[in-house]
Amino acid sequence: MRLERLIELGKQHSECPRCGSSRIGGGSGMIYVDDVTFRRTCKCGWEVEVIEKGGSDNHAVTCP
Ligand SMILES: [Zn+2]
Repeated sequence: MRLERLIELGKQHSECPRCGSSRIGGGSGMIYVDDVTFRRTCKCGWEVEVIEKGGSDNHAVTCP
């Protein structure tokens, strides 16, 4: 994933829309990134996953 895109997504999802937490690490939340995936999780169970392949943008938000 391109760095500019990564920064953009990081800004978009820096704060959990459910509990407002912006903490990463220490058991509060997690960011996972690879070539096509951006995933951000929160301690409250909220999770966003963005998968980008061949320019298409597949944006899935999970709210259990
Ligand atoms: Zn949360």
